[in-house]
Amino acid sequence: MSTNCTFAQITEALRTHQRFVVMSHLRPDGDATGCAVALALCLKEMGKEVAVWNHDGAMEKLRFLPGSELIQKPPAEPLDFDVAIALDTSTQPRLGDCPAAVRNAKLWINIDHHISNTGYGNLVYIDSHAPAAGQIVFELIRAAGLPLTAAIADNLWAAIATDTGSFQYSNTTARTFEICAELIAAGVNVGKISEHLFQTHPRSRLELLRALLNTMQFTCDGRVASFALTRATAAEVGAGPEDTEGLIDTLRGTEGVMVAVFFEEMEFPEGRIRVSMRSKDPRYNVCKICAQFGGGGHVLAAGARVPGDLAAVEAKVLKAISDAIQHP
Ligand code: AMP
Ligand code: MN
Ligand code: MN
Repeated sequence: MSTNCTFAQITEALRTHQRFVVMSHLRPDGDATGCAVALALCLKEMGKEVAVWNHDGAMEKLRFLPGSELIQKPPAEPLDFDVAIALDTSTQPRLGDCPAAVRNAKLWINIDHHISNTGYGNLVYIDSHAPAAGQIVFELIRAAGLPLTAAIADNLWAAIATDTGSFQYSNTTARTFEICAELIAAGVNVGKISEHLFQTHPRSRLELLRALLNTMQFTCDGRVASFALTRATAAEVGAGPEDTEGLIDTLRGTEGVMVAVFFEEMEFPEGRIRVSMRSKDPRYNVCKICAQFGGGGHVLAAGARVPGDLAAVEAKVLKAISDAIQHP
């Protein structure tokens, strides 16, 4: 991987250009949404022109975030920008159709915390120890003395709270809490934002969980737990893409389970199986397992999109996990 640029280089690029597009990964989670909107709002405060693009648009459940209305799907006709910024996105293909809609950008900036980031772009800043890309964006804002409004604080909170699993994962550090203290001082209402992020779900999500638990399997002497979602079941319970977020934690939290897996049949024309993986122990590196299938992520949380039908992909992936567990 290439060496990181400095915050000063990124700040210089932000200050000296005018037209920006900020992008993040497919199916944007709280981090992908929050850090993109936060940086976009910050650039707007600086008087810049900013577009925020996501291949899948904004997720319904995150539309409460101030500024999330800026998120648009990339246009069919390419547009000109001075600077294109990719956040929380380990590889360019994970930006979906966004790169093809960017014409003539002088500079690509890549800010991320995925260990598997390929280092694409002209200015690359990867910190795999940061629990969220939003935490890096916060450090950048602070280092450069850029604006931090209440709306920006809300978005950074959403980014950090999501990717730390509500401050429960081991990636949560003292620095994370220092930052969060500053975000509260900047205007975050913890009770209100937590309710939106973690305590408000459509009934379809619960119906989905019931259907998933019916498919639950334990393999490798109970060390691997998985469930699977077919397109038919998704349609039956009326589940949308964001309803699946976080359900895998039910498996991961089960005693004895080291690796949890969620298989999901994607809509046509995608036609691939979306694989989500979580580990409880760094010896079982799910990023490495997912990389065997063209995916990536973090040591304890990773994913891949695998071609093939559901049963075949399940068999293949469970075999790879079993091999990894036997030879860690
Ligand atoms: P998810 O299971 O979708 O919540 O993703 C867990 C982690 O793995 C996130 O950090 C994702 O960005 C990453 N990830 C998920 N799917 C892929 C993929 N197909 N390729 C690379 N990274 C992925
Ligand atoms: Mn993400
Ligand atoms: Mn992230």
